[in-house]
Amino acid sequence: MASEKMTICIVSDTNYPELVLDVGKVTLGEKNRKKMRDSQLRKKQNESLSKCVITLLNSGGGMSKIEIENEDYSYEKDGIGLDLEHSLADMVPIVHKYFDFMKQGKYFLIFVKSWSSKIPGMKIATLSSNLYKRDITSVKVMNAMVALEFLKDRIETRERFSLTLKSPSKRCREESSTKALASDFFNRTQLRYREKLTFTESTYVEIKDFSTQKLLQRIKEILPQNVSAFANTRGGYLFIGLSEEKQEVIGFKAEKSDLDKLEREIEKCISKLPVYHFCTEKKKINYLCKFLEVYDEESLCGYVCMLKIEPFCCAVFAKNPDSWHVEDNEVTQLSVEEWVQLMMDPGPDFSRLFEEMKPQRSMLSPIPYDWSVDKVPSEKVTYIPEILYKRLFSQHEGLAQLIREEMGSVHQGTLIFSKSWSLDLDLQENQSVICDALLISQDRPPVLYTFLRELNEELKGYSIQTALTLKKKLVKIGGYTGKVCVMTKIYWSEESSTSTEGSARLLYDSGLSAIYPKSYTLITSQTMNDLKKALFIVLKTLGTLSNEFDSEIFQHLLSNQHGLLSEE
Ligand SMILES: [Zn+2]
Repeated sequence: MASEKMTICIVSDTNYPELVLDVGKVTLGEKNRKKMRDSQLRKKQNESLSKCVITLLNSGGGMSKIEIENEDYSYEKDGIGLDLEHSLADMVPIVHKYFDFMKQGKYFLIFVKSWSSKIPGMKIATLSSNLYKRDITSVKVMNAMVALEFLKDRIETRERFSLTLKSPSKRCREESSTKALASDFFNRTQLRYREKLTFTESTYVEIKDFSTQKLLQRIKEILPQNVSAFANTRGGYLFIGLSEEKQEVIGFKAEKSDLDKLEREIEKCISKLPVYHFCTEKKKINYLCKFLEVYDEESLCGYVCMLKIEPFCCAVFAKNPDSWHVEDNEVTQLSVEEWVQLMMDPGPDFSRLFEEMKPQRSMLSPIPYDWSVDKVPSEKVTYIPEILYKRLFSQHEGLAQLIREEMGSVHQGTLIFSKSWSLDLDLQENQSVICDALLISQDRPPVLYTFLRELNEELKGYSIQTALTLKKKLVKIGGYTGKVCVMTKIYWSEESSTSTEGSARLLYDSGLSAIYPKSYTLITSQTMNDLKKALFIVLKTLGTLSNEFDSEIFQHLLSNQHGLLSEE
C-alpha cells in the first residue's frame, strides 16, 4: 500500500526533548480566520494542523509548532479560531486532557499528549477511518468507535448475510422487497424513457441522476464511498441515470465508446479500493456493471448505468485511513494493514504486566529496609542502585558533591543512576559520558542528568535524544498515560588525571529554554508513582535491569515510600 508522504516536517533543531512538527504558517484567531478570503487556504491550514496533531498523538506525543501568519495576534484576545477548535475537538474525547496551547513570540505551540484510550484496542487516533456504511438511505463514514465495532463484528460473525432472499410475501412489505424489485430492474433488458420506478432508495438501493457533462468525474467521486458502504453493509444496487425526485427513468446520453470507457474506469476505481481480510479466502470485491438502453417511443435516447455490489466478506475502505505516525524520521500515513492491526490489538494490560514483573517475594529483603538510616546520602532523595552510585562517587568526588547540591532543593524523590541511560534505552553509547542519572520526584518533571568527562557541546543533542526516547518508552512500553516531559541537565567536570577532585560545571539546562505548560510540570505523588511503575516496566521489558539491581530498584521505585507492597 503506497503511503502518502506529507509536507509537515520534523524540527531537528530544538531545545525541547520532544518530537516537534512544523505546520508552517497558519492564521490564528476567530475574527482573522473568518476574514480569510481564500477558503481553500483556510481549509488547507486546518488539514495540515489536523494531520500534524494526529501524527503527534500516534507518535508518543510532542509539539506542533505554528508560525502565526497574522500580525498583532494575541492568544488571550483572539483565541484560536472555531474551525481549528472543532478539528481538534473531533480528534480526542476531552480536549484539555490532550492539548495545551502556548504562544511563544511569533510561534504558537500546541503540546500534544500521547494517545491513550481506555477502550481495549483503539491504540491509535484517526481523523477518518474511510470505512463507509449505509444507514438506510444515507452513506456515512464510520467513526473510530463504530469502525472498531464493525471490524470486531467481521471477525466474530463468520456467516455472512445471505444474498439469496426468500421472495417476500405479497402483503408484507419489508425493506428486502425493495431489494427484490431493484434486482428485477437490474435484470431488465431495456427501459422506457420516463418510466415510473417501482422502488425507492433504501439500504439496498442508491439512485443518482448525473448530467452527461461531468458524468465520469462525478461517478469517480462517489464510487469509493458508495462501493465501500454497500460492500460493508449488505450489498445493493447503484443506479445512475434515474431521477430520485421524480421516481422515473431519465438516462444519460452517451456513445457506445463512452460506455466502454466508463466501464473500464469503474473497474479501475473499484480495483483500487483498499480492502482488509480476516478470512482465508481473501476474495475480491464482487460486482456487476451493466448498461441498459433507454427508449423514447422507438428511438434510443440514452443509457442507465447499473452496479450490483455484493456484500463483502471483510472490510472495504474508500481509501487508506487518515491516520499518520512518525516512522524512520518521517511523517507517514498508516497503511490499511497497519491501521487495522493497531485498532484490533488489545495491547498489554499494564497493571497485569506489572504484577507479573514484580520480583519474587524471596528476592526482596525479608524485613523492609529502612533506607533512610545509613544507606542514603540524603534523607529526602533515595539513590539507587547502591553498588553503582557508591562506586561512581568514590571514583569522582566532584560528582558526589554536585549531586548533594543538586538534590538540596528536592522535596522527595528517587535518583536512578546508570552507566548510560542511552544504552539502557537501546540507543548509542557515548564515551564522554561518565554516567547518567534520572530524577523522579514530586513537584517537578523528571530530570535526566548527564555527567561528562570533558567539555563536549555536541552532547546537548545526545541528552535531548535520550530524554525524548525515555519519554516515548514510558508512554509506549510503560503504559504511562499522563502528560509528561523529561528535562535534561548536562554537567561536565574538570578532573585532573592525578586527582578525582574537581569542580563540576553546568553545560546545559533544558529547563531554562524549554518552557512547558503548567500541567506538564506538576508532578503529584500519584503521577510520581505512575511514572515509577512505568519506568520499571520499561526497564524490565528492555531487559536492561541486571538481576543484581532488580529487586533493589523494584523496592525503591515502588515500595518503600508509598507502601505499595505493605498494602497487600
Ligand atoms: Zn475476507
